[in-house]
Amino acid sequence: MEHAYQHRDRDGQPIDLPVGKIVCIGRNYLDHVRELGNAVPEAPLLFMKPSTAIVGLDAPLRLPEARGSCHHELELAVLIGRRLTGTSPAAAREAIAGYGLALDLTLREVQTELKNKGQPWELAKAFDGACPLSGFVRPEELPEPQAAELELLVNGERRQHGSTAQMMHPILDLIAHISRHFTLLPGDVVLTGTPAGVGPLASGDRLELRLAGRWSWSARVA
Ligand code: ZN
Repeated sequence: MEHAYQHRDRDGQPIDLPVGKIVCIGRNYLDHVRELGNAVPEAPLLFMKPSTAIVGLDAPLRLPEARGSCHHELELAVLIGRRLTGTSPAAAREAIAGYGLALDLTLREVQTELKNKGQPWELAKAFDGACPLSGFVRPEELPEPQAAELELLVNGERRQHGSTAQMMHPILDLIAHISRHFTLLPGDVVLTGTPAGVGPLASGDRLELRLAGRWSWSARVA
């Protein structure tokens, strides 16, 4: 399948960075940890999605068929602009090329089964189309990324609402931590976890993703 995705800015203009991996954190908002009845992890719980999971929000979202419910997890997405290995939080700040929103799409029953067996989560989170991404705003447009409101409406109804202020591992600490385990490259994206309110998507759902009360993107489930 042709992979036409390219990182874009909030106006839809291409950003001159390659499309890389996505590094994600699970359980970074306490209210979401509680809604799934999970334990609070001490160190960040990391997983990845491959570049083939990324799609834009303009084309209808295609969910896997016959694999149980597919949940939306609305997350602040951070676009990395410089190579980072074993970096400090201060250096991580300089490497951020943009902020956007992502849906960390998750096959919930598949994930629960994997968790119960102690197996990794890729089958639930790394499928083609598992990471719809919005366009990115420049860092200077979002001067307080750690106090940004995230909101997801499904068919006009608010499903998820939170502030990045609720993160247990803040953005710069998280990027620094990740870079001690995996080198981040220009064009990689870090997903920073989801607030409460995750739930299943259905065919034909209309989504609206809002960031900081200033930017919004629409999407539709095929
Ligand atoms: Zn997530």
